[in-house]
Amino acid sequence: MTIIALTGGIGSGKSEVSRQFAKLGVPIVDTDEIAHELTATGSPVLAQINQLFNADFLAKDGSLDRAKLRAHVFNSPSERQKLEALLHPLIRANALKKLAENEHQFHPSYQILVIPLLFESNQYAGLVHKTLLVDCAEDLQIQRAMARSQLDEAQVKAIMAAQVSRATRLKLADEVIENNGSLAELIENVAKMHKKLTKMAVQTCIINQLL
Ligand code: ATP
Repeated sequence: MTIIALTGGIGSGKSEVSRQFAKLGVPIVDTDEIAHELTATGSPVLAQINQLFNADFLAKDGSLDRAKLRAHVFNSPSERQKLEALLHPLIRANALKKLAENEHQFHPSYQILVIPLLFESNQYAGLVHKTLLVDCAEDLQIQRAMARSQLDEAQVKAIMAAQVSRATRLKLADEVIENNGSLAELIENVAKMHKKLTKMAVQTCIINQLL
């Protein structure tokens, strides 16, 4: 089955777009959701994180203090690398398992793998067939990210500065869903893209069978 990587900057609308594709029957595997599942309360990964940094990143209720961990790794590339070295292989293995399960359970022509930092890392190259970008103007990105989270403007801007630029994403992506308008417009854009991707995936499937 064709795998489409869905990406986009913070607050660009990846979750909203995923929801709309899911409504159209497209299977979704979300690497952010997998990361949350892996670090859920009681998970053995939490103890590994504490051990890794020789510190306590658990809140009183035993859940991961995500804000504290984010603050710890955000300005330290070496600490960040340590965390990524622990989590990325686990996330990737889980994603592969879910993608494989979809091969058996669904019969659509393609599935979507949500990878927010697709263009920042090279981990999924060779696995995905096409890349799909959710793009919107940076001021909208900031507004939407702030409205959705506890982050203030400076924090959102700092995260944006640590991600690849909008121009780079637009240059690297195979396909783009524009999200500068209303939710209704976004739903329409997703429906159009679904038609395009279905056609493309069916053609790819026919070509593979012929070769
Ligand atoms: P993050 O990278 O932070 O996880 P994201 O790319 O997944 O963000 P969403 O969570 O989908 O982005 O969108 C951010 C916020 O903006 C959400 O509250 C969402 O409902 C809202 N939003 C997204 N697109 C639109 C739109 N076209 N009109 C109005 N609100 C929107």
